[in-house]
Amino acid sequence: MIVLSDPSAFRNECEQARRSQKRVGLVPTMGALHEGHATLIRRAREAADFVAVTIFVNPTQFGPNEDFSRYPRTLDADVEKCTQAGASLVFAPETSAMYPPGDETRVVPGATAGPFCGEFRPGHFQGVATVVSKLFALTGACTAAFGKKDYQQLRVIQRLVTDLFFPVVVLPVPTVRESDGLAMSSRNRYLSETDRRNALAIPRGLSAAHRAFAAGERRASVLTSLVRNPISAVANSIDYVDIADADTLAIARDDAPVSDRSVIAVAARFSGARLIDNVVLGEDPAPIG
Ligand code: AMP
Repeated sequence: MIVLSDPSAFRNECEQARRSQKRVGLVPTMGALHEGHATLIRRAREAADFVAVTIFVNPTQFGPNEDFSRYPRTLDADVEKCTQAGASLVFAPETSAMYPPGDETRVVPGATAGPFCGEFRPGHFQGVATVVSKLFALTGACTAAFGKKDYQQLRVIQRLVTDLFFPVVVLPVPTVRESDGLAMSSRNRYLSETDRRNALAIPRGLSAAHRAFAAGERRASVLTSLVRNPISAVANSIDYVDIADADTLAIARDDAPVSDRSVIAVAARFSGARLIDNVVLGEDPAPIG
């Protein structure tokens, strides 16, 4: 396994792989890797011969009161997981390599970044779009895997690739869940035992909405209530439960009928952790079957 921290060396490896007729795959992550990330790597490996995993806790996507400094950093274990999942290279740069002195350019996403997490994490998607643009620029032509767990991020990046003509094919990967339905997340390790149990309200609520949608329910407020009610009973707070068109992310409110492909998404806080999850109704399976 090649582990690099220098951006130019990373760019050279990707160029070298392409010169050797290898298809390049990219899996951007913040590390603390779990089975969800491993699935992204395996899926990328199906589409590419040479898969690079990037591990970088990107400061520009964290707000001042968020968990940047305590975000788990587990590089050795991460490299091992990357090897097992079939990656060829790990790129783990220092912050000063990605944002050297004088760095000032930022990539500003549009309306897709507005609702959901955009309202609660100002600047978050600008930070994501900026770092992903830097990674795309270093990697060059590639297939890049992104999880549907972060559905809004996936949509922002699909727009980024289209709007800025990056030579990148975006590969969306379905959300990987624990056996009880909780979406895997590096932040799950912040949860106490009680929080971990309570957090199951998220996949339960999403599954209730999934059932109602499959039975023909299309009123936005009815579907969001099915998600909100079980979560509000156990969470410390809810940032949002909203439903939107799965492509445009235009939010449907009150009794407005939702599209046949709608994403219902939630962000809720359980003492130590802010968890997000979603289901694309009309596309994804229910989190709990
Ligand atoms: P992160 O390291 O959490 O920023 O995530 C890196 C990539 O892994 C993103 O594309 C995420 O959407 C994806 N990812 C994280 N958790 C999961 C999961 N449970 N299932 C599928 N993809 C995931």
